Amino acid sequence: MIFDFPQLLKSLQLKVTPQRLAILESMSTARTYLSPEEVQGQVQLRAACKVGLPTIYRNLEELSSQGVISKILHPNRQLYYYFCANRDHHHHFVCLVCRTVQDIHDCGCAALAGQIDGQVDVHIMQALGTCRRCCNQNA
Ligand SMILES: [Zn+2]
Ligand SMILES: [Zn+2]
Ligand SMILES: [Zn+2]
Repeated sequence: MIFDFPQLLKSLQLKVTPQRLAILESMSTARTYLSPEEVQGQVQLRAACKVGLPTIYRNLEELSSQGVISKILHPNRQLYYYFCANRDHHHHFVCLVCRTVQDIHDCGCAALAGQIDGQVDVHIMQALGTCRRCCNQNA
Protein backbone atom coordinates (compact mmCIF):
# COMPACT_ATOMS: atom_id res chain seq x y z
CA MET A 1 0.00 0.00 0.00
CA ILE A 2 1.37 3.39 -0.98
CA PHE A 3 0.78 6.03 1.60
CA ASP A 4 1.08 9.78 1.21
CA PHE A 5 3.19 10.43 4.28
CA PRO A 6 3.90 14.14 3.61
CA GLN A 7 0.15 14.66 3.38
CA LEU A 8 -0.47 12.61 6.52
CA LEU A 9 2.07 14.64 8.51
CA LYS A 10 0.65 17.91 7.20
CA SER A 11 -2.89 16.88 8.07
CA LEU A 12 -1.71 16.39 11.66
CA GLN A 13 0.10 19.75 11.62
CA LEU A 14 3.46 18.00 11.88
CA LYS A 15 6.57 19.20 10.12
CA VAL A 16 7.59 17.07 7.17
CA THR A 17 11.24 16.12 7.73
CA PRO A 18 13.40 13.60 5.83
CA GLN A 19 13.85 11.61 9.06
CA ARG A 20 10.13 11.34 9.70
CA LEU A 21 9.45 10.28 6.12
CA ALA A 22 12.21 7.66 6.22
CA ILE A 23 10.88 6.34 9.54
CA LEU A 24 7.31 6.12 8.30
CA GLU A 25 8.31 4.52 5.01
CA SER A 26 10.46 1.95 6.81
CA MET A 27 7.73 1.17 9.30
CA SER A 28 4.97 0.80 6.73
CA THR A 29 6.98 -1.58 4.55
CA ALA A 30 7.94 -3.68 7.59
CA ARG A 31 4.24 -4.44 8.26
CA THR A 32 5.13 -5.47 11.78
CA TYR A 33 6.15 -3.75 14.97
CA LEU A 34 9.76 -2.63 15.23
CA SER A 35 12.10 -1.69 18.04
CA PRO A 36 13.86 1.70 17.78
CA GLU A 37 17.08 -0.16 16.88
CA GLU A 38 15.30 -1.99 14.06
CA VAL A 39 13.81 1.26 12.80
CA GLN A 40 17.30 2.77 12.84
CA GLY A 41 18.65 -0.13 10.78
CA GLN A 42 15.87 0.22 8.19
CA VAL A 43 16.17 4.00 8.01
CA GLN A 44 19.94 3.84 7.53
CA LEU A 45 19.54 1.32 4.72
CA ARG A 46 16.94 3.52 3.08
CA ALA A 47 18.72 6.84 3.57
CA ALA A 48 22.19 5.32 3.01
CA CYS A 49 23.56 7.44 5.81
CA LYS A 50 23.92 7.26 9.57
CA VAL A 51 20.99 8.35 11.70
CA GLY A 52 21.64 8.46 15.43
CA LEU A 53 19.53 6.42 17.81
CA PRO A 54 18.53 9.49 19.87
CA THR A 55 17.08 11.03 16.70
CA ILE A 56 15.15 7.82 16.03
CA TYR A 57 13.85 7.72 19.62
CA ARG A 58 12.79 11.36 19.55
CA ASN A 59 10.97 11.04 16.24
CA LEU A 60 9.23 7.79 17.25
CA GLU A 61 8.06 9.41 20.48
CA GLU A 62 6.76 12.49 18.63
CA LEU A 63 4.99 10.42 15.98
CA SER A 64 3.41 8.20 18.60
CA SER A 65 2.26 11.07 20.81
CA GLN A 66 0.51 12.51 17.73
CA GLY A 67 -1.12 9.18 16.98
CA VAL A 68 0.69 8.64 13.67
CA ILE A 69 2.21 5.39 14.93
CA SER A 70 1.26 3.31 17.94
CA LYS A 71 3.43 2.15 20.75
CA ILE A 72 3.34 -1.58 21.42
CA LEU A 73 3.57 -2.55 25.07
CA HIS A 74 5.45 -5.82 25.10
CA PRO A 75 5.89 -8.15 28.10
CA ASN A 76 9.67 -8.19 27.51
CA ARG A 77 9.61 -4.45 28.32
CA GLN A 78 11.31 -3.60 25.06
CA LEU A 79 9.70 -0.66 23.29
CA TYR A 80 8.17 -1.30 19.90
CA TYR A 81 6.31 0.90 17.48
CA TYR A 82 3.85 0.03 14.77
CA PHE A 83 2.57 1.98 11.82
CA CYS A 84 -1.01 1.19 10.88
CA ALA A 85 -2.59 2.49 7.70
CA ASN A 86 -6.02 2.36 9.33
CA ARG A 87 -6.70 5.90 10.54
CA ASP A 88 -10.04 5.09 12.19
CA HIS A 89 -10.35 4.60 15.93
CA HIS A 90 -9.21 1.08 16.73
CA HIS A 91 -6.80 -0.98 18.80
CA HIS A 92 -4.36 -3.79 18.15
CA PHE A 93 -4.04 -7.48 18.78
CA VAL A 94 -0.37 -8.39 18.71
CA CYS A 95 0.99 -11.88 18.08
CA LEU A 96 4.02 -12.39 20.30
CA VAL A 97 5.23 -15.31 18.19
CA CYS A 98 5.27 -14.03 14.60
CA ARG A 99 4.85 -10.30 15.36
CA THR A 100 1.80 -9.83 13.20
CA VAL A 101 -0.69 -7.19 14.25
CA GLN A 102 -4.46 -7.33 13.77
CA ASP A 103 -6.87 -4.46 14.12
CA ILE A 104 -9.55 -4.57 16.81
CA HIS A 105 -12.39 -2.41 15.52
CA ASP A 106 -14.92 -2.64 18.31
CA CYS A 107 -13.12 -1.96 21.55
CA GLY A 108 -16.29 -1.63 23.57
CA CYS A 109 -15.54 1.96 24.56
CA ALA A 110 -19.22 2.92 24.16
CA ALA A 111 -20.18 0.25 26.72
CA LEU A 112 -17.38 1.43 28.99
CA ALA A 113 -18.87 4.90 29.19
CA GLY A 114 -22.01 3.39 30.76
CA GLN A 115 -20.02 1.70 33.52
CA ILE A 116 -18.24 4.68 34.94
CA ASP A 117 -19.38 7.81 36.70
CA GLY A 118 -17.68 10.47 34.62
CA GLN A 119 -16.35 11.08 31.17
CA VAL A 120 -13.62 9.10 29.42
CA ASP A 121 -11.16 11.32 27.55
CA VAL A 122 -8.53 8.75 26.67
CA HIS A 123 -8.56 4.99 26.76
CA ILE A 124 -5.70 2.63 26.09
CA MET A 125 -6.19 -0.91 24.98
CA GLN A 126 -4.00 -3.57 23.47
CA ALA A 127 -4.36 -7.33 23.34
CA LEU A 128 -1.37 -9.66 23.22
CA GLY A 129 -1.33 -13.32 22.39
CA THR A 130 -0.88 -15.90 19.67
CA CYS A 131 -2.49 -15.52 16.27
CA ARG A 132 -4.49 -18.36 14.76
CA ARG A 133 -1.73 -19.35 12.35
CA CYS A 134 0.81 -19.61 15.17
CA CYS A 135 -1.71 -21.53 17.33
CA ASN A 136 -2.18 -24.06 14.53
CA GLN A 137 1.53 -24.47 14.07
CA ASN A 138 1.96 -25.35 17.73
CA ALA A 139 -0.92 -27.83 17.77
ZN1 LIG B 1 1.47 -15.31 14.95
ZN1 LIG C 1 -4.32 -0.88 13.20
ZN1 LIG D 1 -11.19 2.27 21.57
